[in-house]
Amino acid sequence: MRTLLLLFMLALGQTAFAACDVTITAGDGIAYDKTIIEVERSCESVTVTLKHTGSLPRNAMGHNWVLSKSGDLDAVAQAGLGAGLENNYVPPGDARVLANTTVVGGGEETSVTFSLAELPDAEYAFFCSFPGHWAIMKGVLKIT
Ligand code: ZN
Repeated sequence: MRTLLLLFMLALGQTAFAACDVTITAGDGIAYDKTIIEVERSCESVTVTLKHTGSLPRNAMGHNWVLSKSGDLDAVAQAGLGAGLENNYVPPGDARVLANTTVVGGGEETSVTFSLAELPDAEYAFFCSFPGHWAIMKGVLKIT
């Protein structure tokens, strides 16, 4: 029974993870380890922790985690490009940015905590706004 439960949890972890605290990792490649993050609507707040498991510095292979509406992803990423690394490639004060972490390099981690109260939709987009990453380094936040 315990083995079955463990297998079930492992299988679940492959595709989705329903919780209020979520960890996502990225290494020296342009990819997260998850393309779907699932959180429960009942969460008062959600904390996303991004761990960079690689070794390259943040200015060469930095990663962050940015949340926006799916339809805003490209525009926010383009605006973030102009904002530069000093702004974590996120346009300052842009209301389309629903949550974001800082940019981290190898061996570092960062996190962001946000409320679901102002996120009424069932799905949002998350992505890394580091230049050249967002076209493939992205996923879906599902609120269930
Ligand atoms: Zn990245």
